[in-house]
Amino acid sequence: EPLLLVKNVEKAYGKGTNTFNALENISFEIDHGEFVGVMGPSGAGKSTLLNILATIDTPTSGDILIGPDNIAKMDEEKLADFRRDHLGFIFQDYNLLDSLTVRENILLPLAIAKKKPAVIKERVEEIAATFGISNLLDKYPYQISGGQKQRTAASRALISKPKIIFADEPTGALDSKSATDLLESMSALNEKHEATIMMVTHDAYAASFCRRILFIRDGRLSKEILRGRKTRKE
Ligand code: ADP
Ligand code: ADP
Repeated sequence: EPLLLVKNVEKAYGKGTNTFNALENISFEIDHGEFVGVMGPSGAGKSTLLNILATIDTPTSGDILIGPDNIAKMDEEKLADFRRDHLGFIFQDYNLLDSLTVRENILLPLAIAKKKPAVIKERVEEIAATFGISNLLDKYPYQISGGQKQRTAASRALISKPKIIFADEPTGALDSKSATDLLESMSALNEKHEATIMMVTHDAYAASFCRRILFIRDGRLSKEILRGRKTRKE
């Protein structure tokens, strides 16, 4: 049974005769333990798709199952809980809280979930070690580099062991050394079966860390590459 099942998802923007179909008939599955890339030209619908999967936006029609739950049909109250308990996010611009330390930023999801302080402390130290930021825990975001900020954001996304992580251009603002560090840490967690990741990227180097890449073009799934083999989907 797949972890994520996307079925006939459509997204139309606008009203009446002015509607524009940003996504048309998108269907695919992601299994537990996958690291899937999503690529495609600017305007193809990548952000629209990711925002829908991340429950930030809703599809015009279609179903999105994560385990037994259909997030396309869930009411906002239930969705807020689901998002907090089961989903992780990494954005291009980090989205850290400037008034909190690295440690406080990372532990936020566990604090909100009211975990015990001892559990929180252990988990923060474990995830910070994975991302190589153990020595930065008491610093504030303005005191660290972009790469370190993104590793802080990734630690926060992963700390509650979400079912799936949605990453939107996570290396978009990073230099190549920082991008490599981030991608290697994400891959390591993925290979240890601790994270299922879906990453939108326009960067072929970032995509090379994914075992499967979905290509979107004009709102449709146009192609899929699996371990270097090309398969046409149209
Ligand atoms: P990508 O992330 O691949 O660059 P987007 O998902 O941002 O693509 O956009 C897909 C298409 O939908 C584009 O043509 C874009 O102009 C359009 N679009 C995105 N957001 C909106 C919106 N809020 N209202 C109307 N059109 C939109
Ligand atoms: P920019 O971000 O300005 O395009 P980069 O130096 O990040 O420049 O990347 C230049 C090119 O090299 C890009 O195509 C990128 O995908 C690729 N690249 C970046 N980092 C590495 C790396 N560590 N090893 C191999 N290729 C890389």
